[in-house]
Amino acid sequence: MINEKILHLGKERSAIRELFEQGKILKEKYGEESVFDFSIGNPSLLPPKAVNETIENLLKVSKIIDARGKNNIDIEIYSPNNDYKYRKLSSNDLHGYTSAQGDNEVRDAIKKHLEKSYGVELDKDLIYMLVGAAAGLSIAMNALISNKDDEVIVFAPFFPEYRVFIESNGGKCISVSPDYKTFYPDFDDFEKKINKNTVCVIINSPNNPTGVVYDEEVIKKICSVLKKKEKEYGNPIYIISDEPYRELIYNDKKSYPFITKYYDNSIINYSFSKSMSLPGERIGYTMVNPKAQDASDLYLAICGAGRAKGYVCAGTLFQFVIPHVLGSYSDFSVYKRNSQILYDALTKIGYEVVYPDGAFYLFVKALCEDGKEFSEKAMDYNLILVPSESFGIKGYFRIAYCVGKDKIEKSIEKFRQLYDFYKNK
Ligand code: PLP
Repeated sequence: MINEKILHLGKERSAIRELFEQGKILKEKYGEESVFDFSIGNPSLLPPKAVNETIENLLKVSKIIDARGKNNIDIEIYSPNNDYKYRKLSSNDLHGYTSAQGDNEVRDAIKKHLEKSYGVELDKDLIYMLVGAAAGLSIAMNALISNKDDEVIVFAPFFPEYRVFIESNGGKCISVSPDYKTFYPDFDDFEKKINKNTVCVIINSPNNPTGVVYDEEVIKKICSVLKKKEKEYGNPIYIISDEPYRELIYNDKKSYPFITKYYDNSIINYSFSKSMSLPGERIGYTMVNPKAQDASDLYLAICGAGRAKGYVCAGTLFQFVIPHVLGSYSDFSVYKRNSQILYDALTKIGYEVVYPDGAFYLFVKALCEDGKEFSEKAMDYNLILVPSESFGIKGYFRIAYCVGKDKIEKSIEKFRQLYDFYKNK
């Protein structure tokens, strides 16, 4: 028998992907130029140059090895990361399996890079290389949810796949309301939603879909609530910090509060999809805080979940690329400029917009109660916008502004016409 729950997931498709498909149909009908597809978080920027240079260098080295017919020779290859110069490569290394949890040297380079960047102490043997942040979330849920009453807290509005990963691993997804002024969590609601069944809380900053960045005060507040509740219930309550947008912060005054500094029972989930514009390469990692209670067992449970779900040995070529390019990013100034142009124009027209500090999303109040209805109407203007109901709250919509500046500028007249339609209704 086919698993009905899983069949439903396949049939239902994500609302974002559905809109992305509808966008393609509109583009065929009206031409690419006339459609403003703000549906999906697919980075428009090129990866940093260092990525392609490193791939070319690795392939050159691999060819030399093949030509010499020798194994394990040292060849220095150019590396934009000053802390990582070269590695020994053997014949066919680039296309062979690594350890299930990822290559040892790659994990060590990531650990050193993070320690240097954030002044923290980590452990390469608690890092698990993965095919993007999505896989990290899925295996973390598998590792932590052990019975049907287990609950995972998410802060609305939230990335829709959180619910999928939680429920498909047998847990309950518990949504905490936002404070509608700041789009930080509503702390009263947060406290109320924690109980003896709470196994973990997923935080996501810079945030998809709001673009809000949690500052140190917010992180400290979340941690202090959880520490109090851990004591009250006598169980660990883990924080999963889902941070694919970690480096995409536009407000110079906001630095990134690295979660291991504030909370011991934490897991970090990272992906190179957004910061290096490599979403199709499916490369990222998940990492257990060395200070977590029973950290090595927690890591082994992550390894077990990776094994159970078949997420072993992330793509080797891209694992080998990563150490050379750590610290290189796409040119985020393009996103910053897009966010500013859109924010200024939409607020001037009269829209209520959440101030964007990071990621590449703008969250805007719809002009009717139902975000879905609004998003459907927007299609009449060839604007593809994601309704906030997909993210667990009503009455807003998301614009993914990771597109060219031209598209942003040309879309403004469409947003004005849409606004006028509702105001003259
Ligand atoms: N988490 C959040 C908040 C995201 O926005 C995304 C992708 O858009 C993911 C996880 C999944 O990222 P990846 O493409 O690396 O699997």
